[in-house]
Amino acid sequence: RPTLLWFRDDLRLDDHPALYEAAQIGRPLLCVFILENGQTALPPLGGAAHWWLHGALSSLRHALEERGGTLITLRGEAETLIPALARATQAASVHTHARFHERERAQEDRIAQALPDQVALHKYWGTVLLSPNTVATKSGASYRVFTPFWKALQQHPIPTPLPIPRTLQFFALPDDVLSEYRFDEETLRPHHPDWAEGLRERWDTSLIAAHEQLDDFITHDLAHYETDRNLMGQEGTSCLSPRLAWGQLSPRRVWHTVRQSGKSQPDTRCYLSELAWRDFARYTLYHTPDLPFRNLNQKFDRMPWRNDPKALRAWQQGRTGIPIVDAGMRELWHTGWMHNRARMIVGSFLTRHLLIHWREGEAWFRDTLIDADHASNSMNWQWVSGTGIDATPFFRIFNPTLQAEKFDPHGDYIRTWVPELRSLSGKELREPWTAPSLFKTDYPAPIIDLKEGRARALDALRSL
Ligand code: FAD
Repeated sequence: RPTLLWFRDDLRLDDHPALYEAAQIGRPLLCVFILENGQTALPPLGGAAHWWLHGALSSLRHALEERGGTLITLRGEAETLIPALARATQAASVHTHARFHERERAQEDRIAQALPDQVALHKYWGTVLLSPNTVATKSGASYRVFTPFWKALQQHPIPTPLPIPRTLQFFALPDDVLSEYRFDEETLRPHHPDWAEGLRERWDTSLIAAHEQLDDFITHDLAHYETDRNLMGQEGTSCLSPRLAWGQLSPRRVWHTVRQSGKSQPDTRCYLSELAWRDFARYTLYHTPDLPFRNLNQKFDRMPWRNDPKALRAWQQGRTGIPIVDAGMRELWHTGWMHNRARMIVGSFLTRHLLIHWREGEAWFRDTLIDADHASNSMNWQWVSGTGIDATPFFRIFNPTLQAEKFDPHGDYIRTWVPELRSLSGKELREPWTAPSLFKTDYPAPIIDLKEGRARALDALRSL
């Protein structure tokens, strides 16, 4: 009788509590991943995240095959498939990592109930630094602001990463079991049209590359993380987000490796606090299930958001005529990733200057980001638009051109992603509408006057 190991957003062998505990039992492991259609839990992630998933599944399968096992990939509802698999193989127990949203937890409860008698579902908090129940205020409530959460988190030891179990035995699933649910990972890749060329150029999605990238970041960039992390034109951040999103690296492995790196205290501290934002997003999703769906600050339910499909399309395509906004949106489209500072700039521009609902931005990011996840994406959109709990106030409106001057001082980021403007520099590069000769190129004129957009946003806020 096998032990069923259900992989989810934890596509690795290293520091994998569910795998580690399952292996201790000593029964052969049956490793399965289920591609769900999101009917019972949260909406599925989009094309870019699935492109990454394709690589992550192949790499995990390869790592299992090297140890004599394999990965079964099924498409369908976990609620049906996990109990069916347990019954068909007479599995003795099921092990997995817990998810955070109440709908996902309810789904896990239904799976536990549908398992045959005496078969238990064991869940572990293996995708975060600390379980969402560890950190609480003195009154026992959950934190709603990051800084006190971060202070409290540091009062708890972060569990030491677990090694890959030395010996693993595997269960061979007969080909005819649930054969109608098996799926070919190739279908996760785009074919017609193949929009993933830029993603392939930029990223190696393998497990080995994940560890190499962590080492590389620590060797070359961690020592100046605090100062360089906001500069969009250089690689000052770790770019580990898609690896963390799909769990190719565990946050605890990253935490301890960074802490033990011997690099300067302010830089490591700053990096670890960013990593803790990832936990804060999951913690918030756990304690505040409205996070992906509605304004946490309900005052904003009355906000007169504009329905402007043309402006939304221009924003999505990186053709707003504001170079720093377009640079960010084109980096996203081309590589599936965007620098954090650029995410803040384009988010502020969408929700303030264009006065378009943050959920439009959230949906576009969910479809186009390789690191998309419900917790980080919706928390950051609510933060950036001022509608969330720990949020930037709505009246704090980024001036995109000043942001570009400060965080892309030499214009490298704009020139990389908006090559039509490559010959310009300084103010003309940031505000090409002040260089009228340029409108001979097909770079668009601004879709909104920045001053007017700002005034309109503030009027809308006053109307609440
Ligand atoms: P680093 O600076 O190297 O940080 C290390 C790790 O810390 C990141 O890989 C990430 O896992 C975590 N982290 C850092 N900042 C944040 C943050 N603000 N919130 C949550 N985790 C953080 N991040 C996602 O992983 N998925 C998303 O869907 C996502 N959507 C976002 C939407 C908006 C509007 C904004 C403003 C930010 C969003 N972020 C999201 C957060 C952040 O932009 C990315 O995590 C970061 O840019 C990833 O680059 P990095 O790995 O080089 O980060």
